[in-house]
Amino acid sequence: MPTKYIIVTGGVLSGLGKGIAAASIGHLLSSRLRIVPIKCDGYLNVDPGTMNPYEHGEVFVLDDGGEVDMDFGHYERFLGVTCKSKWNLTMGKVFDMIRQKERRGDYLGKTVQYIPHVTDLIKNHIFEISREESAELIIVEIGGTVGDIENELFLESVRQMKEDVGRGNIAYVHLTYVPIPYGVNEQKSKPTQQSVNLLKQRGIFPDVIVGRCSRFLSQKVRTKISNFCDVDPEAVVTGLDVEDIYEIPLIFEQEGLPAILHKKLNIYSPPDMTKWRKWIDNLRNPTREITIAMCGKYTRLEDSYASIIESFNHCSAHLSCKINLKLVETSDLKDTSFLDGVDGVVVPGGFGQRGTEGKISVIRAVREKNIPFLGLCLGLQLAVIEFGRNACGLDRANSTEIDPNTPHPVIDILPEQIGVSEKGGTMRLGAYRAVLKQGSLVHSLYQAGEVTERHRHRYEVNPRYHRVIEEKGMVFSGLSKDGRLVEFIELPGHRFFVATQAHPELKSRMEAPAPLFYGFVKACMR
Ligand code: GLN
Repeated sequence: MPTKYIIVTGGVLSGLGKGIAAASIGHLLSSRLRIVPIKCDGYLNVDPGTMNPYEHGEVFVLDDGGEVDMDFGHYERFLGVTCKSKWNLTMGKVFDMIRQKERRGDYLGKTVQYIPHVTDLIKNHIFEISREESAELIIVEIGGTVGDIENELFLESVRQMKEDVGRGNIAYVHLTYVPIPYGVNEQKSKPTQQSVNLLKQRGIFPDVIVGRCSRFLSQKVRTKISNFCDVDPEAVVTGLDVEDIYEIPLIFEQEGLPAILHKKLNIYSPPDMTKWRKWIDNLRNPTREITIAMCGKYTRLEDSYASIIESFNHCSAHLSCKINLKLVETSDLKDTSFLDGVDGVVVPGGFGQRGTEGKISVIRAVREKNIPFLGLCLGLQLAVIEFGRNACGLDRANSTEIDPNTPHPVIDILPEQIGVSEKGGTMRLGAYRAVLKQGSLVHSLYQAGEVTERHRHRYEVNPRYHRVIEEKGMVFSGLSKDGRLVEFIELPGHRFFVATQAHPELKSRMEAPAPLFYGFVKACMR
């Protein structure tokens, strides 16, 4: 069978959930096919690693160390694949490659042009991935909205692709917005028509239109969109607003989307959604309820912590427990009275000094009050600082990232990071193995002696302080294979006090919630 391609574009507005739509389509088709998701982003950064998560959402880290768009989180969670950094193609990467080829002399004698040179490079990148992965289905998501200058070259490339791969092997799915204006109380198709016109001007004729809306699309609006946009009436489907993104595959299934794609591409075999349905049912009808405080910095934008939020959703679905996440901004924290009525505290990753003292005071409170605590990356570092200061008498202990002049640098820069001045892609990134201590809580949570989690950091627990900290009772329950780096810590005797230098939230899946999150939530429920 030739490789099939589904191209997902978006119109009208950004933020309509193209990534989740692409991932959900993949989920419905993934039971039989080897699927590879590819995301094309129009910005000139090589990767999102240097961007502010407040602007761009979470930076997702892959096993191979790639820092990629947060949509890869959705892909991994919905498709059950382990993605590679090559699958995130940014304009920054494209221009990098073009320039290298030009300098090498690959285009000798020619004027290097957007068409065909840049578009060929984009297409070849996609075809190369397809070959390397022996992909049966490639889902290409084009970031941004049709009409943006940034994604024109990607759109032109995927337009050309239909000749390269054959029209029967490629389907175009366009996600738009169907508003119901206040007072009018009727679904409006005009934005969709205009957006599809923009797409058609670029030579792309959608096979499927997904209309994002707060209600199922009426027959009337479906007919209208079908007429004006030249798609089959049954190929106009609802992208319903939902509480939980995990409901989207079920909505698409109900709307007959797999059958339409099957008609075009001949690829569908119905997936078994029984378990998925049960998890969704647990999310909708929980039997328990708890409140967890997340003490962060970018807490105004939930996207900055997307994977953590999803990890909690996975626990909710498995434990039938609603988790109210209370986002606590620690930059201007007055006291820790918010802890009354909170069942547990998570301190997520972060960079820089702002908000760290607030988090340290929260960690002290949860340690002393025996409130379940989970620390992630910076969360581990701050837990060690707090313990250093208040349990080991290391006055003004700190991380050299936060206070370069601290008398007790319990957290210090990784030796291999000293002298690194470039910021992009230079942290300790990707999957690293840790050896877990027999008999520790972490060992029992993972049910394994060795685990691999993903990392994104420059600093670590300073080996000079390992002994004094351990003597005072903090257990380093997971170390790097050479025993040099602290990967997991815990406090015996506490209800649940665990932290890791890694980001286990990046590998949590609906099918298999991250063990640390699972254990933490269970402790909060007790
Ligand atoms: N800023 C810390 C470091 O670089 C923690 C990073 C993180 O939490 N991802 O080590």
